[in-house]
Amino acid sequence: MPEFKDALTKDTFGAAGRHSHPDDTVIEVRDLKIGGGELTVIAGPCSVESREHILKIAGEIKDAGACILRGGAFKPRTSPYNFQGLGEEGLHFLADAGKAFDMPVISEITGVSQIGLFGDVDIIQVGARNMQNFELLREVGRLGKPVLIKRGFSNTLRELIFAADYVMNEGNPNVILCERGIRTFETYTRNTLDLSAVPVLKKLTHLPVIVDPSHATGRSEFVEPMVLAAVAAGADGIMIEVHDDPAHSLTDGRQAIDPEAFRKLVSRAKAVKAALKEGK
Ligand code: PEP
Ligand code: MN
Repeated sequence: MPEFKDALTKDTFGAAGRHSHPDDTVIEVRDLKIGGGELTVIAGPCSVESREHILKIAGEIKDAGACILRGGAFKPRTSPYNFQGLGEEGLHFLADAGKAFDMPVISEITGVSQIGLFGDVDIIQVGARNMQNFELLREVGRLGKPVLIKRGFSNTLRELIFAADYVMNEGNPNVILCERGIRTFETYTRNTLDLSAVPVLKKLTHLPVIVDPSHATGRSEFVEPMVLAAVAAGADGIMIEVHDDPAHSLTDGRQAIDPEAFRKLVSRAKAVKAALKEGK
């Protein structure tokens, strides 16, 4: 492995490091390319709530411009008394909705024992709480299918890049990084969106970088402005929580936007992306 010492971190990164792959990595999921210059729009509810519900949302977000459907089936909840997700059944409903609307699907894995259930999931999400679950990172690395790793809310970018190396060292080059906000002293927003993560990760690694402003801000009214800022900062994609009735969402309703707001957001985000291309 050639050496690459970043002046700032003094670290040697492995497969995830820019030195090992000078060109940007483009990840193919079915006939979609993540990281190739087009804006990847991932959207859907925080949780899969029912078969009917995920089918309805899938149709609405596809129509509004999303290309990948999200939905959690295994939910990492702070309180053990809150809705924990539909589990295996939820993954089936999600896969059915993806097939019905011809969209790849992404869902979060919370433990090694669930690996066998993710056969119909196109992209495996390792959530913020599991970013340093090294056993899980190694296992999803052995699977070979694309993995989206979310930055832990108390983790540095250096630690996030090493998490990617854990997956890639198992022979899986298909890693996507996701900035979703970190914990600071600010409490008005759920987390603080560290947008400088985008140019830093693009400098230090060759991997696609996605921004999730829903978990970062925790409030629906701040999702669109942070999407526009994320795209302007060079993000390869965005991940947005969308719900047709946010007030009754089983999880994370306060940060969900409705399909109409999502439609406007996508068109404005694409306009920012196009303006960046023109300016090149
Ligand atoms: C999610 O995407 O629903 C989620 C739980 O995200 P995070 O791991 O960023 O909290
Ligand atoms: Mn959520």
